[in-house]
Amino acid sequence: MINLVLFGPPGSGKGTQAKKLAEKYGLLHISTGDLFRKEIGDKSELGLLATSYIQKGELVPDEVTIGMLKAALARHGSTFGVIYDGFPRTVDQAKALDEMLEESEDEIDVLISLKVEDKEIIERIIKRGESSGRADDKDEAIIQSRIEVYKKETQPVYAYYDAHDKALTIKGSGDIDEIFESLCAVIDQVTVEE
Ligand code: ADP
Repeated sequence: MINLVLFGPPGSGKGTQAKKLAEKYGLLHISTGDLFRKEIGDKSELGLLATSYIQKGELVPDEVTIGMLKAALARHGSTFGVIYDGFPRTVDQAKALDEMLEESEDEIDVLISLKVEDKEIIERIIKRGESSGRADDKDEAIIQSRIEVYKKETQPVYAYYDAHDKALTIKGSGDIDEIFESLCAVIDQVTVEE
């Protein structure tokens, strides 16, 4: 099994790169943001609850997010490996993920963080909002609060994995294909070591 976490601030390109990586390595791509948007589209109870947080730029409570993630994994059954995109976003989510993987004697191999400056992030998200239809991408105040939440609640997840020598940072600005190549180089290295 290969288990990867693609990490970084909102708009850092996690979704774009995760899709490409999932295809190349035959991994299951799990994006909690996409899962929430599916629930919202289906107008489910979970979607309704998630909207109230997402539209304010806040995180959906851990309990809800972890429950949704477990259900998604159970639906997919066994895979060669998973690429987590947008999860874990809090240290408690990271601990829950570790515990879950431990149950099947598995673990996260590496967390790769995409580094992009705040100014570029805001520009990218606003541009994405023009075509994505995502309300949380259209309002600069919401974008700012997502960045603040990232720094306060999500960034500590990096230190959590770094303490086990499992965290790496790569440049997330520039050409999409170049970033993809850097990610592949890290993954090839990690999987060779296994
Ligand atoms: P981005 O990373 O571009 O901000 P996502 O699509 O990953 O967007 O997430 C959109 C929103 O969904 C987040 O701002 C947050 O409110 C919610 N969300 C996604 N993943 C999580 C998570 N792991 N924990 C809590 N909330 C989440």
